[in-house]
Amino acid sequence: MAEKIMIFDSTLRDGDQAPGAKLNSEEKLKIAKQLAKLNVDVIECGIPISSPGDFKAVQQIARVVKGPVITALARAMKADIDAAWEAIKDSPRPRIHIILSSSPIHMQYQLRKNPEIVLKMGVEAVKYAKQYTADIQYSLVDATRSELDYMCRVIEAVINAGATVVNIPDTVGFAVPEQFGGLIRNIMNRVPNIDKATVSVHCHNDLGLAVANSLIAMQNGARQIECNINGIGERAGNAALEEIVVAMLIRNDFFQKYYHEIKMDEIYKTSRLVSSLMGIPIPVNKAVVGANAFVHSAGVHQDGVLKNTATYEIINAELIGGKAAQMVLTAHSGRHAVYHQLQELGFSLTEDEFEEFYTRFLELADKKKEVFSDDLEALMNEKITYTETVYSLEYLQTVGGSKSIPAAIVKLRKDNEVYVEMQTGAGPLDAAYNAIDKITGFQPRLENYNLRGVTEGRDALGEVSITLRYDNRTIVGRGTSTDIIEASVRAYLNGLNKLLVLRGDNDNGRPDEKS
Ligand code: MN
Repeated sequence: MAEKIMIFDSTLRDGDQAPGAKLNSEEKLKIAKQLAKLNVDVIECGIPISSPGDFKAVQQIARVVKGPVITALARAMKADIDAAWEAIKDSPRPRIHIILSSSPIHMQYQLRKNPEIVLKMGVEAVKYAKQYTADIQYSLVDATRSELDYMCRVIEAVINAGATVVNIPDTVGFAVPEQFGGLIRNIMNRVPNIDKATVSVHCHNDLGLAVANSLIAMQNGARQIECNINGIGERAGNAALEEIVVAMLIRNDFFQKYYHEIKMDEIYKTSRLVSSLMGIPIPVNKAVVGANAFVHSAGVHQDGVLKNTATYEIINAELIGGKAAQMVLTAHSGRHAVYHQLQELGFSLTEDEFEEFYTRFLELADKKKEVFSDDLEALMNEKITYTETVYSLEYLQTVGGSKSIPAAIVKLRKDNEVYVEMQTGAGPLDAAYNAIDKITGFQPRLENYNLRGVTEGRDALGEVSITLRYDNRTIVGRGTSTDIIEASVRAYLNGLNKLLVLRGDNDNGRPDEKS
């Protein structure tokens, strides 16, 4: 009989550690709800001790999202474990995830403790966490550079102390498949009480081997795989969730002893949502979810696919929900049709929220004859980021062109005050940003700028995501419009609003240790 593989998603924890990806609590909640729809088994949603904002985000998810196990990360310290428990305790299925290094290099230089002390710390932490809940996961940070004998002793001891899941992370992305498979097999064979816990793996992609390492670990005894949407995570990222679950399915002839319960047709939507909210574009050649993943370009390939898709296509877009029926809406579409389409896309709005959304929809439908579901999604994603508006855009006029002096007039509203400013710049966008800086008094540095056409055609919605840096903070701003200057200004304002809301939030960064 085939064995179930638990899919543990860490997009909201390890993924959130990707540079510039920092999500606010509304965005985290939205992704967590979508992960529950995708039917992942475990959602790791943050590090509650790291900041009040992260604590609140984890707590909100634990209270609202039902179905998957909800877990949060804690170092092997009482304060971390207390914070993690406080944040997740309202979930029907809470799990505390404790991490502690096990490699000589980490113990000597980072922890500055001898291995026996570290082992004792791990056991004490598990016992301490066990008073709160039965489900305890223990991660041996930097496992792939640890000594096998020592690891086996740690694993045996933490299972005796009450750990129910033992995670073997390739924290630095150092492992190669044959070796990593052998490591898991050795652990399965040598740890006497290993049958009392689930063995998990957490692979990083520094050598491009995270998915391969995860799959071979599964074949050698791992029954939980930690992975992230779009492979987003620290450095080169983590094993990509969509690649693992698609590989298991497409190569079921090879992986027939295992199965997962992921709802395949939610993959595309989840991938797009994460990319859009994090402001990190999906590479066009990315396996499974990249824009080119299902495009055949070479003449010989096109010829073959037209005769029989199986000639050059092993996965089809429908499998992952990629070509969901597109219902086209227009300015004549009534509230009911728009509401229905939003529901189909998985959004639920209150009456007031919908009215506000419908106004934005009509504005868009006036400029753009046909509104596709992708457009609706882009508007919804923008709406979420606008929940914390301080300054809103009232009016924008720009002058550009090859012979003119680029200039912009910007009118912003804050509470009941309206501010107007005119500025010049290197281009119309620079001029508009200068005008906004003049009004708000901020001068954030623009670190990254991305423009994406949401749908096809010259009147398509442009979605701009930018990264701003101010006061050692990195913030992602997003905006959409059929006018790319307006979309860029909305993105800039969105980022500024987030900065304004965040100021005063005591976010001192994250714990040094990461599994
Ligand atoms: Mn990691």
